[in-house]
Amino acid sequence: MIILSLVPIPFRISALTQEQNSLLAYPIEQMATIVRDVKFRCTCCAKCCTRTFNGHVFLLDRDVRAVKTIDPEAIEPAPDPEFCDQNGTYYVSGYALRAKADDAGSCWFLENGKCRIYADRFAICRIYPYMLHREPDESGTVDWRQISGIDQHGEYDREIPEDEALTIARETKEFEHAFLSQEIAFLEYVQEYFSEHRLRHVQKVYDDRMRAFSKGIPIRVMAYFDGRFEEHIVRKG
Ligand code: SF4
Ligand code: SF4
Repeated sequence: MIILSLVPIPFRISALTQEQNSLLAYPIEQMATIVRDVKFRCTCCAKCCTRTFNGHVFLLDRDVRAVKTIDPEAIEPAPDPEFCDQNGTYYVSGYALRAKADDAGSCWFLENGKCRIYADRFAICRIYPYMLHREPDESGTVDWRQISGIDQHGEYDREIPEDEALTIARETKEFEHAFLSQEIAFLEYVQEYFSEHRLRHVQKVYDDRMRAFSKGIPIRVMAYFDGRFEEHIVRKG
């Protein structure tokens, strides 16, 4: 497994830029055809709003701006920070929705199986389970994937009108493009910030502090938002 934090930042920026160019070249009509062929129907089970099913929900900057006006307590720095400097400060590319302390790890906004801000839900919540990025399959072959968790949720029997499929395809592509732009901006800023403050990523410090964190020692995390870092002290749980 490749430890991303050990890959030089310029290589990572270059790989993400290539990914973004491939995404731009991907025809939305092709995605729309797949959307119509898959016939996904949401059964409103709310599994995707829990960490046990879906990991964390990463937010774009525009969604972080919105959530800060709705309920600033609802976000936290995204887990698995990308870097740790020689002084033990971590750096992560953005925020995720906070989970409640229940068994499923329900989203902060999930109440009685329903989203309490449904009309204002975030970009990722609107497009799920559609996605448009390349991933390796079980044999290691990298190809595009358009649906997350196929056959693990929902039903597959809905006739989707062509204009709706095109809208889904367009919104999914826009989300993925914005996500890649945010990742690239984060890496460029880390590069500049580290150079200006004479910092460097040290994997051993990263691992040591993570071990201490898992035993209850708080860590300092800088979360990237709106072209700068916001400082947080994060405790396990
Ligand atoms: S904001 Fe709403 S739709 Fe999005 S994960 Fe939370 S509960 Fe689900
Ligand atoms: S998108 Fe899937 S997991 Fe989420 S509520 Fe609908 S059926 Fe359930």
